Amino acid sequence: MTQTITSQRPFEANRDLQSPNRNLTPLTTCLDDKDQLSVGGCGLSDLAQRYGTPLYVLDETTLRATCRAYREALKRHYPGPSLPIYASKANSSLLMSSLVASEDFGLDAVSACELMTALQGGMPGERMVLHGNNKSDDELLLAYNNNVTIVVDNQHDLDRLAVLVPAGDSPARLMLRFTPGIECHTHEYIRTGHLDSKFGFDPDQLEPVLKSLAGQAWARLTGLHAHIGSQIFELEPHRDLAAVMADALKLARSLGHPVQDLNVGGGLGIRYVESDDPPSIDQWIEVVAQAVTTACRERALELPRLMCEPGRSLVATAGLTLYSVGSRKTIPGVRTYVAVDGGMSDNPRPITYQSLYTALLADRPLAEADETVNLVGKHCESGDVLLKDLPLPTTTSGDVVVVFATGAYNASMSSNYNRIPRPGAVIVQDGQSELVQKREQPDDLLRHDVLPERFRAVR
Ligand SMILES: *Cc1c(COP(=O)(O)O)cnc(C)c1O
Repeated sequence: MTQTITSQRPFEANRDLQSPNRNLTPLTTCLDDKDQLSVGGCGLSDLAQRYGTPLYVLDETTLRATCRAYREALKRHYPGPSLPIYASKANSSLLMSSLVASEDFGLDAVSACELMTALQGGMPGERMVLHGNNKSDDELLLAYNNNVTIVVDNQHDLDRLAVLVPAGDSPARLMLRFTPGIECHTHEYIRTGHLDSKFGFDPDQLEPVLKSLAGQAWARLTGLHAHIGSQIFELEPHRDLAAVMADALKLARSLGHPVQDLNVGGGLGIRYVESDDPPSIDQWIEVVAQAVTTACRERALELPRLMCEPGRSLVATAGLTLYSVGSRKTIPGVRTYVAVDGGMSDNPRPITYQSLYTALLADRPLAEADETVNLVGKHCESGDVLLKDLPLPTTTSGDVVVVFATGAYNASMSSNYNRIPRPGAVIVQDGQSELVQKREQPDDLLRHDVLPERFRAVR
């Protein structure tokens, strides 16, 4: 669908055009001649009307600018080869797979269906890695048969692969994941680099595992992997990680493994609220690249291919969610609740991680706030609060609310709690909007229910 917006003024002052993760809103967020919000040249309340709400919106310009920022930073700061790969668990779809493939990214998948989504979206298997701390035989085989590098997380992976790879066939391409023993400051549920983590081999298991893998005909160890956590604003942990990984690289090569890839994971944070101040993509890559380069030179190691796995910082800021306001409840002297037509089923991050967001009215983003409300969802759960203490102009039923930076870990973590169908998703660019995920219908949810014959008679 195309629409024409006559005049557009950039919405956010101090926009960081080079590093979208440092903005609150997509790069193309504008005010039209009526001071209403548009993204990608599409009026937001117009999108809400055309496609219904809740609606996920992705801005193509921001997505591509982010991909470019990663690629260019790697070229600028790393003297060796590099491959950025998209952590698709942040937002997995045919569209995202196709888009990042067209931007020369690789992709990481954590399940058979994430892997299939990426393959069908056009991502070459050779540019993909399969993660997971409990991979099924089917997942391992799907990866092996599509030349996907398997990130070995534990002994179980090794035991299964030794059985599954057909004797005499080409060896499985492996990357070894270990916990580097690095602490960082983020929510404990998304911290993965410390020793007490379900992911990866312990550092002291590294040597025995590398020794046991040496000379195995079914295995070709081509990389090492570590990931320290998510929504991280500090640079120091990534600097520390490089030295730990370079030691592991040296050990692996000394044991005869043809290790070329060093995968430092993802984790760069984004700006969800005004007070967040994440490093830019360029700064993050600069620190990682310099630390890896220095650590390798100190150990006289040939530079590996540097891989990083951004998820959140690649897709979060490009996305937003549109909701319609419905009911309200005011408890005098206590608080006002304003309810929208979605909530914890399309955005489980506030209830899971106490995450904060920024929200505005699509048609009155500049209007003075005259009340402070809790913006709540429609689910049967008191914790179903999207934003606490949000200053807003007085809303009426039908107003469209925009929640920004919902591109990562919203659609991908959504549920059907209360049997609420998942929202649809559109991508916007140059005044065009295109559907990339259909809104679920009640029939889609009922399709999997089975009522055994003997229950049918009961009335
Ligand atoms: C989640 C995850 C990522 C992506 O993390 P972000 O914080 O979204 O960048 C990368 N690699 C691995 C192994 C992960 O589990």
